[in-house]
Amino acid sequence: MKLNTSQNRLENVINRVKRSGREPNTNRSLLSKEPSLDVREPKALARVEVDSIPLSLQNVNFLQRKLGNEAIGRILQAQPSTSKKVHKALFIDSPIGGKCKKWRAKATTKHPKTTRQEIVNEFRTNFNALIKARPTLVTGTVSTKTSQADIDPKVAQVNKRIVKHFNSHIKSPLSDPEVQKRVQILPQQKTRDPDFVKQWLANRIYKLTSMADYCIDESDSRFQKVITDILADGAINKNVKIMANRQPAFFEGDGTSRNVYIHRGLAMAKVEPILVHELVHFYAHNDYRKWNDKMVAPRYINEGFTEFLAREAMGPTMLSGRNKYPDRFKFINDKVAKHVSVNNIAAAFFAGKVWQVEKVSKVAKALFKTSRRKKTADKVPTD
Ligand SMILES: [Zn+2]
Repeated sequence: MKLNTSQNRLENVINRVKRSGREPNTNRSLLSKEPSLDVREPKALARVEVDSIPLSLQNVNFLQRKLGNEAIGRILQAQPSTSKKVHKALFIDSPIGGKCKKWRAKATTKHPKTTRQEIVNEFRTNFNALIKARPTLVTGTVSTKTSQADIDPKVAQVNKRIVKHFNSHIKSPLSDPEVQKRVQILPQQKTRDPDFVKQWLANRIYKLTSMADYCIDESDSRFQKVITDILADGAINKNVKIMANRQPAFFEGDGTSRNVYIHRGLAMAKVEPILVHELVHFYAHNDYRKWNDKMVAPRYINEGFTEFLAREAMGPTMLSGRNKYPDRFKFINDKVAKHVSVNNIAAAFFAGKVWQVEKVSKVAKALFKTSRRKKTADKVPTD
């Protein structure tokens, strides 16, 4: 690959960092107000200047490959307008990309179907195609493969993994027995609960339709009407309920009522990465939830943040073949992690320091103000 001049300079910086035998210091900002790349040792290399290098997209991609998301996020944080870009992605645009689409409540000659009808049709078509491709999703019976005794040791292991990986952000980790109590084999009656089926559908709708394009969440009555229509659709509702009943795992509740459920039919080999994802949900900070609630598509984006951080904590074995929430993971990776470090994303998610990711929204500003009063803010937002 041919490098342009500024990339040559970046290559030199990276080589010097590598020759020093140390990783770049990830505990401090790599690029502060006086742009400089800090490395731990030796002293001669303590400050490698990278200022005046224009961070074109090409350079960004190059640095990302060489140093990883963490370092590049820190460098980019010093770039102006980062927060505005992230704000636009999380609070203004459709997560699928571009402007939010307008919801058509009435059919017209040009558009003989309302948006509600269109989304229901999309769901029916894609759901049936999925069932056709994988009939076992709704046929046969599910045999028990995993018991509470099987998952308990794994829960302890995963809890330790997450707490260790994000130790600077998870301030009050729960003990293994406490988490074990909160992670249960899913009781059958739970998935038959109409409320559960609705929530399961809310998640599936994003996967099988273009609902996210309209930037409305399940709290919106238009969203709820789509759910009602799907549940009343005799061509698919039976299979929808069967599939909801076979959901491998899910998370519910806030604060002290948080619970994670694992399906008894899930093979133990598959349990570990699922537990990582679910326990990341488990440690979401209340202020992060408040911030997330105000976004364009909270459930969609929350799954993105959760899966993004879960993959950060997974080892190579778990990561190989991991393809859960590909669109939502990509959304966070492209729209947030290219501008903000993983460390700051973790600070927002686990410690509620949302202003380290985005500080334009009303909710982020208010949370920052409160945290300063409480003296929990350790970082003044900079532009
Ligand atoms: Zn999830």
